[in-house]
Amino acid sequence: MSGAAKLLVLNAGSSSLKFKIFGLEPFAAGVSGMFDRIGDAANCTLKASAAADAAGGKGRKWELKIPAKDHVGAMQNIMEFIKENVSSGFAREVVAVGHRIVHGLEISQPVLLNDKSIAKIREAAVLAPLHNPPGLQGIEAAESVFRGVPQVAVFDTAFHQTMPPHAYMYGLPYDMYEKHKIRRYGFHGTSHQYLVEQAAEMLGKPVSETNVITCHLGNGSSIAAVRGGQCIDTTMGMTPLEGLLMGTRCGDVDPAVVLHIQKQLKLSIQDTDTLLNKKSGLLGLTGSNDLRAVIDGAHRGEPRSVLGLAMFVYRVQKYIGAYTAALLGKVDAVVFSAGIGENSSIIRGLILEPLKGMGMVLDPAANAATVGGKQGAISVPASPVKLFVIPTDEELAIAHQTLKASGRAG
Ligand code: ADP
Repeated sequence: MSGAAKLLVLNAGSSSLKFKIFGLEPFAAGVSGMFDRIGDAANCTLKASAAADAAGGKGRKWELKIPAKDHVGAMQNIMEFIKENVSSGFAREVVAVGHRIVHGLEISQPVLLNDKSIAKIREAAVLAPLHNPPGLQGIEAAESVFRGVPQVAVFDTAFHQTMPPHAYMYGLPYDMYEKHKIRRYGFHGTSHQYLVEQAAEMLGKPVSETNVITCHLGNGSSIAAVRGGQCIDTTMGMTPLEGLLMGTRCGDVDPAVVLHIQKQLKLSIQDTDTLLNKKSGLLGLTGSNDLRAVIDGAHRGEPRSVLGLAMFVYRVQKYIGAYTAALLGKVDAVVFSAGIGENSSIIRGLILEPLKGMGMVLDPAANAATVGGKQGAISVPASPVKLFVIPTDEELAIAHQTLKASGRAG
């Protein structure tokens, strides 16, 4: 893919920088990879892979140990790597850079980066202290090598901005919202939006007439209720902690529990944050945040794994029920995606088998066959509500939105 115009998508975490390159003529995904353990000189690794292309080019994989002290250093190493292995003129070929930014407060669309929009991302960091600062580092890293190239921020929160106030407000004093922006925002929005567009295509309906419940079930999990293509509710809140039981996050919990923990156990704010975000969920209940291990444990009859599995499944069912009501019973499809939703026919079966009475009729054979990145229907043809598995592709969605926002055709 050397020579032609390219687009770069970046997703920066606290110690990682993921990248994916798209060729634009024609539009196609190219090399993708990840710089991991940035700042840890001994273990810093660059992993990359190139899928086999339609023209017969073979797939390739790379794994290199290269130190990078920060995101700017990682970006420079990625540039060197791409120059050597993908395209020597890469720095000149990139026509736009898209960034995944977790929190965008009330921004509802991707934005071109400039001083004003960068200041807004900084402002949102108050509500996303773990997530937005790495995003800003990713922006700084890209600016250090692509001066003058349009850069676009695509927000995890943006798709959920259509939620009505009765869904996004907390029952707290109104000042909390007005002065401190405390409300529900929702996350995984780029994924939910992509799933809605794909589901509409599978249903043969315009997005604007599509009612779906999208279940993004991975290490972090959330569900969205979508009416006429627009989000009307989602399970995550002001931060990604609310809602479903997750790999390491507790999900819904009585806030008084947090006060009690701090008072009785004398935990600091930082330790409480770590407890709720990193030590709870499946990990805290069963000892593993990987649902595969929990399923294995449940098969062996380990009581905590049985419990963790049942809790995970029950919360998903509870929200599918709640969102069926939010959509006034008019649900075209329920969509499953991300690590668990795409791969675990066992979990999908446990969630959906008991929901037959809600018009969601699973086809066990289709369910068993639709794993490992396959897309398809897993409901019987007569099922009033269709059940779909759709592999999510956040980078592709970010690429399309970046092209649009930077003034190139989507
Ligand atoms: P992230 O939120 O980190 O992006 P992913 O969407 O990649 O997470 O999902 C990762 C999770 O998917 C793993 O932690 C694991 O629990 C789960 N997973 C992957 N494959 C399976 C499977 N076959 N069965 C059950 N769970 C699976």
